[in-house]
Amino acid sequence: MRVLLVEDEEGLIITLTDRLVSEGFDVEVAKDGKEGFDAALAGNFDLILLDVMLPKKNGYDVCRDLRQKGINTPVLMLTAKGETIDKVLGLKLGADDYLTKPFEVIELMARVEALLRRSPNHERHDAVGSFRFGEVAIDFKRAEVRKSDTAVDLSAMEFKLLQFLIENRGLVHSRDHLLDAVWGYDAMPTTRTVDVHIAWLRQKLEENPRHPHFIQTVHGLGYKFVV
Ligand code: CA
Repeated sequence: MRVLLVEDEEGLIITLTDRLVSEGFDVEVAKDGKEGFDAALAGNFDLILLDVMLPKKNGYDVCRDLRQKGINTPVLMLTAKGETIDKVLGLKLGADDYLTKPFEVIELMARVEALLRRSPNHERHDAVGSFRFGEVAIDFKRAEVRKSDTAVDLSAMEFKLLQFLIENRGLVHSRDHLLDAVWGYDAMPTTRTVDVHIAWLRQKLEENPRHPHFIQTVHGLGYKFVV
C-alpha cells in the first residue's frame, strides 16, 4: 500500500510517517502543494493524505486539479480547527474524507483503513481472462468478443476501450481520462474520438444502443461501465 503524505509541518510528517511505515505502508512525502500534485500525478498511490494550508498550492486546488486529471486516488484532507465551511468545500472538490487537526494518530489510522477498504482501486479486476455481461462474452487473452454466440468484430481501440472500462467498472471516467488511459499521451485524438468509439461499442454490444444498459453516460462527467 502506497501513501502520499502532502504536509508541511515537520512534526506531523515525522509522526505520521513513523506510524504509517510501522503499519506496513510505503510512504512518500511532499512538503508543498505543487510537489504533492506532481507526485500524485506521477506515482501510483493507494491513498493521499492532503493538508489544506500548504505552500505554493493549497490542498483544495491540489485535490480539484487531481480530480480534473482523472486521478481517482482516495484523498483524506487534513484541515485546521475551525475550518468547517472549508471541509464542505474539500468534499465538493473531490476529497473522500477529512480530519480536523489536532487529531489522534489512531483516529487517522481508522480513517485510512476505512478509505482503503472502500477504495475503487481495491475493486479493480485486472487482467481477467474472460468476462461476460448480458449476451456478450469476452476472451481477453485471445481478444475475442462474442454476442449471442456470434463473433463480434472490434477494432483494436474499441477492444482496448472496452477492456479498460470493464477492468475499471463502476467508476466514472472523463473523456480526457479515457483518452490518456486508452489512447495514450502520444496520440492526438480529441474527446470526440471517445464518444465515437463509445457509440460503436454500444452499436455492437448493447441490446438497445439508444438506451445502453452497460456502457452508460454520466452526464457532465463521462462514461462508466456497469453490470
Ligand atoms: Ca500546513
